[in-house]
Amino acid sequence: MIKTINIKQENNNIITIDGPAGSGKSTIAKMLAKELKLNYIDTGAMYRAITLLAIENKIDLNDEKSILGIAKKSDLKFDNTVEDIDKYTKVLLNGKDITLEIRSKKVGEAVSIVSKLSAVRKYLVNLQREMALKSPSVLEGRDTGSVVCPGAICKIYLTASIDERVERRKKQLCRNNQSSLEDQIKCEIETRDKIDSSRNDSPLIVPDGAEVIDTTCMNIGEVFNFIKDIYIKKLKSVKN
Ligand code: C5P
Repeated sequence: MIKTINIKQENNNIITIDGPAGSGKSTIAKMLAKELKLNYIDTGAMYRAITLLAIENKIDLNDEKSILGIAKKSDLKFDNTVEDIDKYTKVLLNGKDITLEIRSKKVGEAVSIVSKLSAVRKYLVNLQREMALKSPSVLEGRDTGSVVCPGAICKIYLTASIDERVERRKKQLCRNNQSSLEDQIKCEIETRDKIDSSRNDSPLIVPDGAEVIDTTCMNIGEVFNFIKDIYIKKLKSVKN
């Protein structure tokens, strides 16, 4: 039985950032975590880690019971002590560093199938809430403002044009010494967006009360300052 954690409706210590693939969530969330001394919770990395587990154990990607079983037996942790912003968070699965492995093409192609499974989502949402309640946090993903922490003080929805998102993903892969053709990246992103937005359980939506920011024509510094200002204003308004 998974114990359900109830999250308080209003939470001044939490920022959520949701949006489609390649919208810049990770970069912004890591910058905010660093500057505001928040715990960084990459929920997509958690779905990727469970997907990697399923692939390595040759479990059918639709076999909810077996995937949940293996997820519950595993130890999934983040190490957020790395200084370099590109390598800011290490993802550890049963003690092994899987940070790069979870960004592979095979995991990218499979993750949206696994993340449709309700029992897996329920399990990971609880873990995410547990982490978020431990210390002030920034969470990024697809449902962090709508489902995981709807009471977060600052909820952001980031988006950008498909061409811009493909370009950003290409640069990110390059930095990780991984490469992929532009058409392949575009196809992967569009397929994932379609599955993520149309699934029954916790689809990608603009959360209630979220600020929507189209970052197509903004640089990262502009997006960062914009969100930081929103957060500071929200904090001031609850203190007054
Ligand atoms: O953010 P990232 O691209 O690493 O997320 C990988 C996948 O994990 C998404 O395409 C989505 O299928 C799933 N995901 C999710 N809910 C979240 C975060 C990610 O379903 N909160």
